[in-house]
This record gives sequence, structure tokens and C-alpha cells, in this order.
Amino acid sequence: MARIDNDTINKIKDSLDIVDVISNYVSLTSRGKNYFGVCPFHDDTNPSMSVSKEKQIYTCFSCGASGNVIKFIMDYENISFPEALKKCANMANIHIDINDRAPILNHKELYEIYDLSCKFYQNNLNSKLGHSAKEYLYNRGITDEIIKEFSIGYSLKKRTLLTEFLTNKGYTKKDMLKSGLVLEKDSMFDIYSNRIMFPIKNRNGQVIAFSGRIFDTVDTSKYINSKESEIFKKSEVLYNLDKAKEHARNSGRVIIMEGFFDVIAAYISGIKYAVATMGTAITKEHAAIIKKTAKEVILCFDGDRAGLKATLSCIDELSKVNVEPKIVILEDNLDPDEYLKKYGKEKLKERLENPMGLLDFKLRYRKKDKDLTTSSDMALYVNEMINEINSVNDEIEKEIVLKKLSEESHLDIDFLRGKIKKEEKVAPTNIVKEEHENVCLKAEKHLIYYMLQNKEVIVMYNKKVSYMPDSDMRMLAREISLFYKEYGHIDISEFMNYIIDNEKLSKTLGEVLKQNLKDNYKIEEIEKLIDSIDEYNKKQHLDSLKNKANKTLDSKYLDEILKIRKGEM
Ligand SMILES: [Zn+2]
Repeated sequence: MARIDNDTINKIKDSLDIVDVISNYVSLTSRGKNYFGVCPFHDDTNPSMSVSKEKQIYTCFSCGASGNVIKFIMDYENISFPEALKKCANMANIHIDINDRAPILNHKELYEIYDLSCKFYQNNLNSKLGHSAKEYLYNRGITDEIIKEFSIGYSLKKRTLLTEFLTNKGYTKKDMLKSGLVLEKDSMFDIYSNRIMFPIKNRNGQVIAFSGRIFDTVDTSKYINSKESEIFKKSEVLYNLDKAKEHARNSGRVIIMEGFFDVIAAYISGIKYAVATMGTAITKEHAAIIKKTAKEVILCFDGDRAGLKATLSCIDELSKVNVEPKIVILEDNLDPDEYLKKYGKEKLKERLENPMGLLDFKLRYRKKDKDLTTSSDMALYVNEMINEINSVNDEIEKEIVLKKLSEESHLDIDFLRGKIKKEEKVAPTNIVKEEHENVCLKAEKHLIYYMLQNKEVIVMYNKKVSYMPDSDMRMLAREISLFYKEYGHIDISEFMNYIIDNEKLSKTLGEVLKQNLKDNYKIEEIEKLIDSIDEYNKKQHLDSLKNKANKTLDSKYLDEILKIRKGEM
């Protein structure tokens, strides 16, 4: 990401008071030096978030969310860094020319071409020639309001119109071909002809691709999607996220669907927090975005076999980021669009608002293709369900499903309960090891905490700590050290800007700040922290030598062990 220069960022940050800004969003009460409020970044009713006027940062002692004023706006509003910066500049009444597209300035022409094409297609739909396309949309229950809301357009039959339009606007052949909207054989021509055009936007609402749908013939492929480009990566894009994100934040829910018409059907029924993948299975990138969008994730795919498969793979991908989705299955194997037509919007809304839990869904689909009147299928079913129950965390949900399973299988519930995995007992040697690790990790966190308070601690760290055992802490300490090297001082709030587009580091920083330590310290205390890190490293080294000595019976390892024990190393 192209960085906006640091002085500008600091100027904006310094002209705002974090306490004033956060009070606009969260009610704060002063207690001692700091202010406290209910953290908006996790589900809570206790005031676990502290805001420091002095340091100009906030920290949640429960979930570890932390940052400066820009980070707060970014996360609360769910917007990008440049957008948050712009918002903060406005609040501070500073006029600074921050381009929304700052991080993506390289692709200025591409964004412009897509933006202009979108307007061009919208105009077509409203022209005389767009009449039959519009009729088609009306027949599908898509009103003028919806057409406008989703910027739906129409590509005319004549295949050179967009090419001419863009040429007249002064775009080069190279840019037009790069967009993928224009192709070249003997001459240049539009890729889309006689299709209803659905623009695909990124999370900031910029058009980055189209999906063109046929409507009056059946002989060609139903949809043509723009090819991937520098600004359009299918694996990262969710249709309608730009508009759904705000509704998702307000309701705490997001629904994942399969296609545009499903999202639009949900919108018509009054559910505005639905998004769709671009005809691909959910990717790791999607899962990460979804997790950030809302706490409650609901899947609503087609009721057919393909839809079931998509649901299962989505559950799988989401479980990798610790999200347990809920599921809506519509009757008669209908998709949401068909369901809307058959049962009306009230009914669709009701269905979307009442998803079933993950285990209930599993109870259903594990039954598919099994004949539960036979003992063998029933045994298979019960075993599969026991595995499923073991994979969820919610104890209450587990009990409820166990009860249902017991009723279905006529097996005693206590017998079934006995099959549920007990918490594994940790072997005593592991406990000792874990304790050591915990002591060391705590020391690392504390040390970093004080590195952020005073540069003298950074100097001590640079001189005396050879290795931070925990990789996250190691990276954070390294970054603090780099910041100090570059700017010659340390300031937490400024440092937060330095790492603002690195989610992992920001999270680790949250873990450190969560410690809630006193600000003043004695040098001896710092030395003690460094000693315990050192001791842990030595012990690790010793253990690995012992291991090698045991394996190879080589005396050189034993000599080294003895030396370390005598304190010579
Ligand atoms: Zn929190």
C-alpha cells in the first residue's frame, strides 16, 4: 500500500482528541487518569475499554482491540485507512487533499473506465433501446428503485458502442484492452452485447467488474463475468459488501448467498445485509472478510445438491477462522429469488431471520441418502453425529442435539453422552513446560509494554535480548526497534500508525496493551524481565542439547550441558 506521508498523518491525528472523538460513538466515563466505556469491538456490557487522553490511545482489556483515533474510526466504521484519515481530517477541519484511491492510485484509468462504463450501461437501460431489458427486470419484480440501488444497466446489441464511447473520452487502446471490457480481433469491439449488466463493486463502492446476464435468448452462457484484473480478484470480492457492511454492523448479522438475484431478493424482502460470492466457492480471503463483517454469519444457498455442497465447503472454510455459521434452508429446493416469487417477501424475510444452528443442519444433512430404518445406516448416522457434536464448542447446543439424537435413535442419552469427547488431561510434564512458557511470554509482553513507554527500554532490548521466543512478540519488538531507529523517539499512538495496515502486528500490540500495567517502572524490573526471557532461552537450549545427547551419546553435548549448568555460557 502506498503510504501517505507520516507528517500528514500525525498532523491530522494530533489535531483531534481521542476522548472527544470516541465519545461520539461510545459513552465514556472518567475514572482516574483514563476514560472507560463499553467496547464496541466485542460483545459486552461491562466498560472494559479504556481511553487514555495522555497517550491518545484506546485499549480493550477484554478483547485486546487497541489503536489511536484513526484506527478507531477505521474499525468502527469498517472503512479503509485512507477513508478513515479523510474522515478524521474533516473532523479536525483540516483541508488536506487525500485521494480516496490513495493506495490504488496506479489503477486510476481502470477505475475510471469501469465507473464510466457503469454510467453508460445505466443510460442505455433508460433509453428506448433498453425497453425490453427493463420489461424483463420488471417481470422479475425488480423495480426502478432496485435498478438504481444496484446500478443495474444494459449493454446494447451493437458491439462497438462502448468502445466508441471510451475512445471519445480519450482512453488509450491499451487501457481499454486492459479493462477487459473491450476486445480486439480485426478491430476493437465490446465484450458485452445485449445483456443486463450488474456492476460488481469493491468494499469502497468502486465498480471493478461486471456480470452480464442474457435475458431474451437461451443459446449462450447465462452470465459472463469480467475477467480478473489488477483491481478485480474474484477470490476477494463479495457482491454488495459495499452497501451490506453498514447494515451488517448495525444488525450484527451477515448473510452469504450464491448470486446477485438472491441478494436482490433479500433486499426486496427488507434484508439489506446479504452478500454473494462471484460464482466461486468461499475462499480463505472471503472467510477473513466475512469474519470481520459481523458476528453472526448465516448461509443461505440453493436447496439443491450443488447448494448443499457449497454450504458444506463454506462451513469448512469458515471453521478455519473459528466462525460457526447458522444456516437457512428454503423449502422445495428453492433459491431465495424463486422463494420470493412463490411465497412473497414477508415469508422470505421471516425465513432469513430465523436460521438453524450448525448442528441442526448437520442432523438434517447426515440423514440424506441413509435409510434409518436399517441398523447399519442408523449406526453410521449416530457415529457421524457424535463426531459433529464433538466439533462444536457450545455446551447447550451440544445437549439439545444429543437429546434429539437420542429420540431419533432410541439410544439412551447417557450412553450417547458417554461417547462425547472428554477434555483431554494434560500430562504433568506438559504443565511444567507450559508454566515456563507462560512466565516467559508474560515477560516478553511486559518488556514490549515498557519499550513503548520509553526509548531507554528499547536501547536495553537492543543490547541485551538476543531472541524473543514467541514469534509474534519477536516481530512486534523488531518493529518497535525499527520505528525507533527511523524516528529517534517512541510514541505509542504514532507507532500505531506505523503498523496500521498490518493486522497481525496490531493484534499482537493489543495483546500487549491488554496487560494493563502501571506506567512507571524501575530499571531493575526491566532487567528482571530480560533475565527471565534469557533464562527461558537457556533452558530451551539445554533441553535441545539433552535431547541430542540422549540420541547420539556424543560427549560434546554433555560437556556443553555442564558448562551451561556452571554458568560459564
Ligand atoms: Zn473489546
